[in-house]
Amino acid sequence: MRGGHGYQASRPVRRTFRTVPYDVPVTTNSTSPSIVDRLSAPHRGRIPFSVEFMPPRDAEGEERLWRAVRTFERLGPAFVSMTYGAGGSTRDRTVRITGQLAAETTLLPVAHLTAVNHSIDELRSLVGAYAAQGITNILALRGDPPGDPLGEWVRHPRGLTYAEELVRLIRDLGDFHVGVASFPEGHHRAPDLRQDTQALVSKLRAGAEYSITQVFFDVEHYLRLRDRLAAADPEQAAKPLIPGIMPITSLASVRKMVSLSGSVIPVDVEARLAAAAGTGDQEDRAAVRAVGIDLATEWAERLIAEGAPCLHFCSLNFAKASTEVLARLGVDVTAAVPATT
Ligand SMILES: Cc1cc2nc3c(=O)[nH]c(=O)nc-3n(C[C@H](O)[C@H](O)[C@H](O)COP(=O)(O)OP(=O)(O)OC[C@H]3O[C@@H](n4cnc5c(N)ncnc54)[C@H](O)[C@@H]3O)c2cc1C
Repeated sequence: MRGGHGYQASRPVRRTFRTVPYDVPVTTNSTSPSIVDRLSAPHRGRIPFSVEFMPPRDAEGEERLWRAVRTFERLGPAFVSMTYGAGGSTRDRTVRITGQLAAETTLLPVAHLTAVNHSIDELRSLVGAYAAQGITNILALRGDPPGDPLGEWVRHPRGLTYAEELVRLIRDLGDFHVGVASFPEGHHRAPDLRQDTQALVSKLRAGAEYSITQVFFDVEHYLRLRDRLAAADPEQAAKPLIPGIMPITSLASVRKMVSLSGSVIPVDVEARLAAAAGTGDQEDRAAVRAVGIDLATEWAERLIAEGAPCLHFCSLNFAKASTEVLARLGVDVTAAVPATT
């Protein structure tokens, strides 16, 4: 049992890692189960859930992150993931905190890793650093250009161009479990949905075991991606397509987020949020939050009815809104109280 949450423990495995440059250990002991194992293990509630954290900016942010971590820990997520930023100090924090999640909590961490501004040697070294901490679950991403996510993508001169190459690189280094990103509305750089689906199929064929979707605000987008994947490659479509879900707590923030990601807020969703926000200078955050929780619960209910494998909450390092949604879905969250953030 891992963390008393009903998950089956996997046998300790001595994993071997092929030669990597620098002072990276080539072998490590790991008891980490894969995400696919976790999703098929017993779980609380009607559906497994997972949580995405991001590296905090400062000491106050780190305290808030750890409060959220400890709150979610009591609720038994299938796994948690830690995003990877663009700058050096943020990246160091990602590596450090993901290691702490592995060493100091009962949670199963997934480390996001991007190809942005990294040579292949550096990527190998980072993967080795994760392995040395017993972290063998990695989400392989290309990443966005730093500063302007919609700007021109420039490959590192000794780096990689697509996430698919990173999947292969990580898999070649040893017995890692790799996931990738998927885009229900299509990635903003893909010429059309067919080519976007093909890019996802290529990442899965390269050895990715599952994908986590970009946050969406209309479940139809998720279902249509699932259909496209099934039509393109039924074998790869059998791998978990984990929906990203975010309880909206601020209309201004979500508008900014969609402007950077290329996704769209449906007219009816925007209308409900705008009506709650009111017409004052400042949006009515409490009313927007209440509608945001309603919406996230409606999306989650539909996803459960449609057989989604897991709900991946983009927490922004806050626990309270996601916990409220889980409670509405029938999960006993009394163990997590008080969720103060
Ligand atoms: C769940 C999730 C987590 C994320 N976490 C992070 C994070 O931690 N840090 C961060 O910086 N960003 C993160 N992102 C954002 C992500 O890095 C960007 O959206 C990025 O622009 C795309 O990354 P990717 O891994 O999907 O790239 P890729 O799969 O490489 O795709 C990039 C573009 O190239 C196209 N493409 C792919 N392969 C080919 C090919 N062979 N030939 C031609 N075109 C191709 C794709 O259609 C797409 O348009 C995350 C996104 C999601 C959905």
